[in-house]
Amino acid sequence: MTILSDFIRADIQALTAYQVAELPEGFMKLDAMESPYHPFSGDETLKKKWLELLSQAPIHLYPNPATSGLQEALRQAFNIPDAAQIALGNGSDELIQLLTMLVAKPDATVLAVEPSFVMYKHNAALYGMNYVGVPLNDDFTLNLPAVLAAIEKHNPALIFIAYPNNPTGVCFQREEVEQIIRAAKGIVVVDEAYGAFSRDSFLSQAGSIENLIVMRTISKIGFAGLRIGYASGAATVINELAKITPPYNMNQLSLATAKFALQHAEKIAETIEKLKKERERLFAALSAIGRLNVFPSDANFLTVRVPNAALLYETLKQNKILIKKLHGVHPLLDECVRITVGSPEENNAVINVFNKLYDER
Ligand SMILES: *Cc1c(COP(=O)(O)O)cnc(C)c1O
Repeated sequence: MTILSDFIRADIQALTAYQVAELPEGFMKLDAMESPYHPFSGDETLKKKWLELLSQAPIHLYPNPATSGLQEALRQAFNIPDAAQIALGNGSDELIQLLTMLVAKPDATVLAVEPSFVMYKHNAALYGMNYVGVPLNDDFTLNLPAVLAAIEKHNPALIFIAYPNNPTGVCFQREEVEQIIRAAKGIVVVDEAYGAFSRDSFLSQAGSIENLIVMRTISKIGFAGLRIGYASGAATVINELAKITPPYNMNQLSLATAKFALQHAEKIAETIEKLKKERERLFAALSAIGRLNVFPSDANFLTVRVPNAALLYETLKQNKILIKKLHGVHPLLDECVRITVGSPEENNAVINVFNKLYDER
């Protein structure tokens, strides 16, 4: 008798833990789509107000996310329609887990496109569900006929569409996603983790289409450390989600900070605009190098196919820049890397390494 052989699930033992990269001293961290800026840096008055607020946060009391006022603040800041209910999660990662739990009947199916965010498949497996991954086209656009055929065949309880997609950056055609929502009988989660950097969103439809959940996070717009995600949709789904959400899943410090930050939404918008401009500059600079395939991105990262991803990764590392190697993750990601859009200085450092490595004339 051992704990491992007799009690702990064999399928979990076969997994490997999610790798969070350890960052050596002085490295530029461009692997996880974090914002390069602390949201209150450069504004001492704002920072002081925030610290005051934190010092008064009732950390001796359990948090009540429902009455924290954060939902209202999100509604205001992001124009979430009145028809939509909002569920808060400890990061949208938790919402992915809860949404999966909600539909995890034996023989039920989760469908996603591939490559996409790895947690969709991971949670399907954790909850003992069937998983169907429909490959994207070579240029990372949707293979709509294949998705529709898979919906017809498997009648998925839950479909995840990252819009824009991670790790590819490409945003699918709106009409195609609408067709998927119409064809699906189950819940369709449009994961807009990068929605703030995109030219399109499904948020305005949240609440008016029963099987649509629009999931967002404040992680990629400057608050990855707070762990706050939200799902908006019809009461039919959100009310059930409330029943399985742990009562104290958010913490007082995060709730207070997020609410405060959203009252200064113009500062967040400024940073987003800055990063979008940097994305275009980085895109142009890397595209100018002939031997690369830089995929169009509506997110705060660029996915690039290079002649030798391992060599690029190591060369960037030698220059104290950490990015994400995608090669090996999925056949469509052959020789690809993913680079978070950073500050102008960080992006310049990336461009310099690329130019040295590829532009030898
Ligand atoms: C980063 C990311 C998430 C997770 O966001 P958190 O709110 O930080 O948990 C969800 N979906 C996609 C597609 C992401 O890239």
